Amino acid sequence: MNTSALLARNARKYPHHEAIVCQGKRIPYAELDRLVNKFGSAIRGKEIHAEDKVALFLPNTPEFAIAYLAVQRIGAIVVPINVKLTQEELHYILEDSGAKALIAHDMLFDTVKTLESPVEKIKTGDATGEWSSFWQMLEAQKDTPIECYLREDDLSTILYTSGTTGKPKGVLFTYRSILNVATMINIEMEVKPESRILLSMPLSHSAPLHLFFMSGLMTGSTLVLTPTFTPDLFLDMIEEERTTHFFGAPVAYLTTMQMANPAGRDLSSMKWWVYGGAPLSENEVRGIKQAFPTGQLTCVYGLTEAGPSGTLLFDEEHKEKAGSIGRRAAWGTEIRLIDDVGDKVAPGDVGEIALRGEGNMREYFRKSHETEAVFAGEWLRTGDLAMQDEDGYFWVIDRKKDMIISGGVNIYPKEIENVMLEIEGVREVAVIGVPHPEWGETVKAVYAGDADDTEIRNTLENRVASYKVPRIYEQVEELPRNASGKILKQSLKGAHA
Ligand code: ATP
Repeated sequence: MNTSALLARNARKYPHHEAIVCQGKRIPYAELDRLVNKFGSAIRGKEIHAEDKVALFLPNTPEFAIAYLAVQRIGAIVVPINVKLTQEELHYILEDSGAKALIAHDMLFDTVKTLESPVEKIKTGDATGEWSSFWQMLEAQKDTPIECYLREDDLSTILYTSGTTGKPKGVLFTYRSILNVATMINIEMEVKPESRILLSMPLSHSAPLHLFFMSGLMTGSTLVLTPTFTPDLFLDMIEEERTTHFFGAPVAYLTTMQMANPAGRDLSSMKWWVYGGAPLSENEVRGIKQAFPTGQLTCVYGLTEAGPSGTLLFDEEHKEKAGSIGRRAAWGTEIRLIDDVGDKVAPGDVGEIALRGEGNMREYFRKSHETEAVFAGEWLRTGDLAMQDEDGYFWVIDRKKDMIISGGVNIYPKEIENVMLEIEGVREVAVIGVPHPEWGETVKAVYAGDADDTEIRNTLENRVASYKVPRIYEQVEELPRNASGKILKQSLKGAHA
């Protein structure tokens, strides 16, 4: 099974059923299949062949869907890139992946127009200089079926990690991985041909791409794409397109509640509100369930390297276990907590989450040392430290790389950050360990906001053990974040290296 065969099946079985809806364009499955054949032939004409890498610098648009499926249809490997990256970051990924072609959207042309790279350059608007036009190339082709035999173990995709823990790494997937993860969503979240999946989160990220774009393709459902996310557009699309499934980071729900008025909208078509990437607190869950009352709120825990299949926390479980990541692995995945040598930790102890399943990546592209380090046998080390409670629920404590060891004692920055974020006048915060001659590391808080450090220290002294209270405070305008919005703790630590 592969994506190309799924598209061909949908074109046969549901030729007139809407495959893609985006900004007024509606593309049925038979038409999508034709466009994919034409673009596949067009890139073959540019000497792109099986196993070549083709980078997509495209927001969620019909061109993304066509290019993604066409690259895979000719047996080449697709490399979707986060559209918020700078030219320098994009250049790094093109070189690291060895991409042979780059397909960029016209709305991002300012970022790429001066790019110096030997790749074949294609843009969605008119041709200019060394850039060919996507649509002109496509329209010049006949709709000739493309013959390409693909196996489940063939390579389909390289996704780049967001680089919070160093330079972005290419995560290499076979068809087996991505289709397993999509099957998980189909089984767990009842995706059907009549489902309408709203995709507003960038398709360069594993969760929207493999969990939802792919499960839609697998079942022949409709994919409603928006190139950007804004709270109003999000609510408009649900109302106008009667969507049934949505995936977003917690911040998507929380900002929509602050900036728009979900209660005044008709959200009755929605069956699944899915979130992941970070937990929601009890309070936040209460607010979200009031603002988005129809359908089921479901948490997905995972990471790019796992496909991102990990665990699920279902709607009814939020009543008692909001903030946890659930008690069971998603379909097709197994979970355990392990120690540094890969053995299971004793019940109640903190351990690193390890995941085993067909969704796991094959390897980090061209990084054999990193690949070796991240696998303990078949188990993928997630880098997340967690504990299991007496009911079997897993609670993520912090990322292993962020843990501070001061005087031989483990300190989890998240615990301190969560308390600091409750203080009025603290807008954002990162707690890090900085070198200390006696204790190895000492605790430092870097925060944005107008609270003063004496006030913060007093609050913390009443709430957490004294060895956890930061000894150093730094007030900044804002914290450094990467293109996905995650705080770059390593760069804050780097300042002390
Ligand atoms: P990098 O690997 O470069 O650091 P990243 O952190 O953006 O990039 P992702 O795969 O996007 O990598 O994020 C995965 C991480 O997000 C997980 O390892 C975990 O720390 C966190 N995470 C994901 N889902 C949840 C969740 N439901 N609850 C808590 N944390 C989560």
